[in-house]
Amino acid sequence: TLDFHPTGRHFLQIPGPSPVPDRILRAMSLPTIDHRGPEFALLGKRVLAGMQRIFQTKHPVVIYPASGTGAWEAALANTLSPGDAVLMYETGHFASLWNRMATRLGLQTEFLGLPGVEGWRRGVQADLIEKRLREDSQHRIKAVCVVHNETSTGATSDIKAVRKAIDAAKHPALLMVDSISGLASAEYRHDEWGVDVCVSGSQKGLMLPPGISFNALSPKALEVSKNAKLPKSFWAWDEMVEMNKTGYFPYTPNTNLLYGLAEACDMLLEEQQGGLDTVFARHQRWAEGVRAAVRAWGLEIQCADPSVYSPVLTGVVMPDGVDADKVRQLIYERFDLSLGTGLGKVKGRMFRIGHLGDCNDLTLVAALGGCEMGLKLSGVKLAGSGVQAAMDHFASHASAVPLKK
Ligand code: PLP
Repeated sequence: TLDFHPTGRHFLQIPGPSPVPDRILRAMSLPTIDHRGPEFALLGKRVLAGMQRIFQTKHPVVIYPASGTGAWEAALANTLSPGDAVLMYETGHFASLWNRMATRLGLQTEFLGLPGVEGWRRGVQADLIEKRLREDSQHRIKAVCVVHNETSTGATSDIKAVRKAIDAAKHPALLMVDSISGLASAEYRHDEWGVDVCVSGSQKGLMLPPGISFNALSPKALEVSKNAKLPKSFWAWDEMVEMNKTGYFPYTPNTNLLYGLAEACDMLLEEQQGGLDTVFARHQRWAEGVRAAVRAWGLEIQCADPSVYSPVLTGVVMPDGVDADKVRQLIYERFDLSLGTGLGKVKGRMFRIGHLGDCNDLTLVAALGGCEMGLKLSGVKLAGSGVQAAMDHFASHASAVPLKK
């Protein structure tokens, strides 16, 4: 047990789960209703339509009572057959986990990427994908799988460039995208970008607790799914898509999380707040403020390519000899602030600051204050004050929509 009794709110500054706004908590506190009754159909239709707007698609969105990992499996199981070749791209830990899952499901995966940790500091290199697809003249590769926002590193890949690479190679492979941590914080346009399956989850930009996840589909993905032979039942799209037409689900949906989802869609899409484009702009602005802090500390940002800096989170690299997890632990114990741990190849080398979902300038200034105090207490030599740099950034860059008119 912890020997301290924090007061005030815990600072949940990991890159998901993100803090759940009171408005959503209240919406979820309604009594659970009959999921076969008439009232439910209205809720079902509302969240399905809302999620089409969030994904920016006119095609079906499937909602699972599962974490993001379930929706990853659904994307593969609905479109592929045992032994199919899939081309996956290593951007970091989550791309590696999806690759491992594909292997475990009996697919032949090829894991493309830059050597060592180099690939963990950049986005997807679309030219490598194009080159590989051009070599595949027999069209053995059935899908290209990439992570949009790599949560383990803080790099947001250019999905349009991946689409362009597939088209340039005149290759029929499906484009499957994990935007579990990107959706509703980072720009994502399903139809316009030509994505076939997008996987997402509730606990990041959608500001909900963990527990529901999504597949956004394309007509081509739906067509391909008719002949896909990987075993599936719980994950099968066909019954879901059919029943969803009337607002219902083939098995018991996560009713109270769906109340929360309806509220989240309203919040994200609110016209007078400027809708999704404003959401994307505010995360870019917060991300720049956080990066200004890291630079002022004289520390390195995990993502080495500014063109793919993530609006969702920032990875902070520790100087040699400093254990990032010890710094995180001290910050947690002293200041009741949770930061993301380094995962996989960068474990102990860096920590992650989330700026996704429900934030504002002051929560971020406070979170950076916790980081700055913790870094100093850990003996990390800082070049200057990151908190001051972030305050200067936020003060000199007004947000797109004034908080109060
Ligand atoms: N993919 C990405 C990019 C993630 O960030 C996560 C979780 O953080 C996952 C997949 C796995 O999702 P879950 O933990 O909800 O199963």
